[in-house]
Amino acid sequence: MSSLFQTYSRWPIDIKKAKGTVVEDQNGKTYLDFIQGIAVSNLGHCDDAVTEAVKEQLDSVWHVSNLFDNSLQEKAAAKLAEHSAGDLVFFCNSGAEANEGAIKLARKATGKTKIVTFNQSFHGRTYAGMAATGQDKIKTGFGPMLEGFHYLPYNDPSAFSTLAEEEDIAAVMLETVQGEGGVHPADPEFIAAVQTFCNEKQALLIIDEIQTGIGRTGKAFGYEHFDLKPDIITAAKGLGNGFPVGAVIGKKKLGEAFTPGSHGTTFGGNKLAMAAVNATLQTVFQPEFLQEAADKGRFLQAQLKSELTGPFVKQIRGKGLLIGIECAGPVSGIIGDLQVRGLLVLPAGPNVIRLLPPLTVSKEEITTAVSKLKEAIEAHSAVNQ
Ligand SMILES: *Cc1c(COP(=O)(O)O)cnc(C)c1O
Repeated sequence: MSSLFQTYSRWPIDIKKAKGTVVEDQNGKTYLDFIQGIAVSNLGHCDDAVTEAVKEQLDSVWHVSNLFDNSLQEKAAAKLAEHSAGDLVFFCNSGAEANEGAIKLARKATGKTKIVTFNQSFHGRTYAGMAATGQDKIKTGFGPMLEGFHYLPYNDPSAFSTLAEEEDIAAVMLETVQGEGGVHPADPEFIAAVQTFCNEKQALLIIDEIQTGIGRTGKAFGYEHFDLKPDIITAAKGLGNGFPVGAVIGKKKLGEAFTPGSHGTTFGGNKLAMAAVNATLQTVFQPEFLQEAADKGRFLQAQLKSELTGPFVKQIRGKGLLIGIECAGPVSGIIGDLQVRGLLVLPAGPNVIRLLPPLTVSKEEITTAVSKLKEAIEAHSAVNQ
């Protein structure tokens, strides 16, 4: 019997070793990993430079209190500021914690309380993260929820009219591609309405880049695909290429809200995490690397569209290397079959197969993965006819 809380329904695959796109289980079976720990190892597993940086740091110093100067944090923060719309960074340990920090920052900086988020969004499992998340199933049994959240339909530019009279809006928070909610990219008209609403209400714009950031969509951050001026950006998943770390990145004007004693964490910005972040960003933020990730994303989408032509596949969508295949029915059987065929993929809701290969994936690996997907979907369609 397991001594773990059964908070996950786990697949019976225990990974022993991993490099790049390929992982190996305890039985020596290998898989192409198009999950990468859920958009975490964007440089592939055990990237040489990140591994080397963490190994070196292990022998110098692991952890010091945030009451001391930290040059590794300064360096990582400067990189994030240089490559984003933000100026100031707070490091934490996870995505939910980053969103928690963003919501605290927005309320304190504006003196207002309400936060607007969207249906089918996902912002994490802490109390603020759950409250921000527009999915009831995440909240069931955990009430009462944190107050002050409004939920609007995603991708509906007219949705904001229901809040026309509301004056107490601290922030609007959204993903530019809803990841967990089914891989739904935002429409430009919707994004324009978001920005207009924030300007009119003098509300801060928080972009949750936890899944879309760090090159995943073919740009450093997903909001760069649009004409958007975020005040706060949250990052985590891909930030340390597998080392647990998160970040709240904000505009300089918000600095007065986060003063000594106002917010903090023991582990956030730990030396080992910062070694991983600095090495990760060194590669990911190179324009040629991002360009190549974008090209591979287009290649993968084009391959999927030309190969997956049967009636079971309803739509192929996404940005960069965050791609969803919407199917006509449940995909859990196909995902299990793909594991047997040596390809690891995720669901995003019951009917969507989500692909999150590393940004370093090769075109050969993409072609192999697409043919496995084609076989598994065709086998499934044949059984269900
Ligand atoms: C994964 C995710 C989170 C939560 O991150 P954790 O590190 O699991 O707490 C929040 N927002 C988005 C968009 C995510 O994809």
